[in-house]
This record gives sequence, C-alpha cells and structure tokens, in this order.
Amino acid sequence: MIVTTYTCDRCKHTQTTNLQMWYVSVCVTDRPLQPRYTAATRVHEVLWCRDCVSVVGITFPPPVVPPDTPKPTFEDFIREIMRDEIANASER
Ligand SMILES: [Zn+2]
Repeated sequence: MIVTTYTCDRCKHTQTTNLQMWYVSVCVTDRPLQPRYTAATRVHEVLWCRDCVSVVGITFPPPVVPPDTPKPTFEDFIREIMRDEIANASER
C-alpha cells in the first residue's frame, strides 16, 4: 500500500490530500511592467497549509463542503415507486 503524505513546509502539518495546500513561491519582476521586457524568476517554492498561507495575509474563499445528502434507503425507493404509480393511476 502506498500512502502519500503532504507536509506543510512551515508548520509541518500533514494530510493525505493536497486539498487546501498551496505552493508558495517568490517571484522577481523588473519594473516598469512591460510585457516584452518582464522577466519573472521562480526563486524558491514551498508547500504551505491554509493556516500558514493565511498568516502571511493571503486569503482564499472558504473551502466548499458539499452538503451531506442522505443515501436513499430501500424504503425511499419503494415510496418513490408508489408515488409514481399513484400519479400515473390518477392520470388515467
Ligand atoms: Zn502550515
């Protein structure tokens, strides 16, 4: 079994997915910004968790958590079939 662990380079928080983890880097850009003369260089890149990114003032929208939808039960299927049958019978 292979387990991938993502570790924040700043606080050492670990998790098994890369969700809510960001690559943070420093870029150097010459001024004034003119597209043909702009040169950006990635100097260093680290992986930070949400809390560490927030500490330096970078904010993101809160993570979207899908609502918990209950899994339909066998009884729910039977009720749905009965509702459809009653609706079809009333249309006849
Ligand atoms: Zn962190």
